[in-house]
Amino acid sequence: MKLGTFRIKDGVERLGVVVGEKIADVNAAYVHLLTQKGKLRAKEIADALLPSEMVAFLKGGDDSWKALSDVAGLNWNDDPSLERFAHKIEDVTLACPVTNPGKIACVGANYFDLLEEMGIPPTPAPRLFAKFSNALCGPCDPIIRPAATECLDYEAELAFVVGKTARRVPKEKAFEHIAGYMILNDVSARDLQVIDKQFLRAKTFDHFAPCGPFLVSRDEVPNPDNLDVKLWVNGDLRQNSNTNKMVFDVATILSFISHAFTLEPGDIVATGTPGGLGRDRTPPVYMQHGDVCSIEIEKIGKIENKVVPELFE
Ligand code: MG
Repeated sequence: MKLGTFRIKDGVERLGVVVGEKIADVNAAYVHLLTQKGKLRAKEIADALLPSEMVAFLKGGDDSWKALSDVAGLNWNDDPSLERFAHKIEDVTLACPVTNPGKIACVGANYFDLLEEMGIPPTPAPRLFAKFSNALCGPCDPIIRPAATECLDYEAELAFVVGKTARRVPKEKAFEHIAGYMILNDVSARDLQVIDKQFLRAKTFDHFAPCGPFLVSRDEVPNPDNLDVKLWVNGDLRQNSNTNKMVFDVATILSFISHAFTLEPGDIVATGTPGGLGRDRTPPVYMQHGDVCSIEIEKIGKIENKVVPELFE
């Protein structure tokens, strides 16, 4: 299944599931389904199992996934009573699938092709840093170029979203704790990375983490460690790699992090970026106002974000 967070004209964020060419409001559709079945307290049950917010949904665990599967399995093509719950995807605004995660953990220097370009050896263990949720934005939202940087760069990354609390999880059980996958562009201000000697400011300006287009459930991506990853700027292919070039694979990353701190449902983990960064070109080429940055990951989808200037009030 493909899950998303979307807004229609009223601006309210809703949890959606993709049904054909449309995205369905899962909470409203579940109230309808339960009412049709003659259930008492349909709204209360729907709010508990299929709330309109991704982190709350993920916290519901197996019972919530079962309810979601019931909604996705409705007769969306032929039942006219369901039409009011489904919206054409082009008619809605997609937000980051997980709008308010507890944590966003990122892995740096995790692709062999990137390390080769940088001329450095692999680290003995995953190198972690963080972004904050203010950086998250949707798959079509603008990347805001802060006035503070001259060196705005992209990083195409596969991200996984935690589905079940993970503390000291062995690598063999790591996938049980993953809800699904999405694209994350780990937008970075290279000059500030160098000046600060810490990653935080350079990595977490507002809109420095476009994500999406949807959270693709784990069952649809049986092997996240073998997916093509591509990034273009204005149609020019800049990154072209595969997750099989990661130094530390998805299971190793989850296990490693879970031995440092507890991962909770909704937490986002970005797994690192391949070679081909603007910084490592000769001469370096950074993103400018009006540039369009597109990322495609096999089985996950595509996001496309335009660079706009920061506006001051
Ligand atoms: Mg990165």
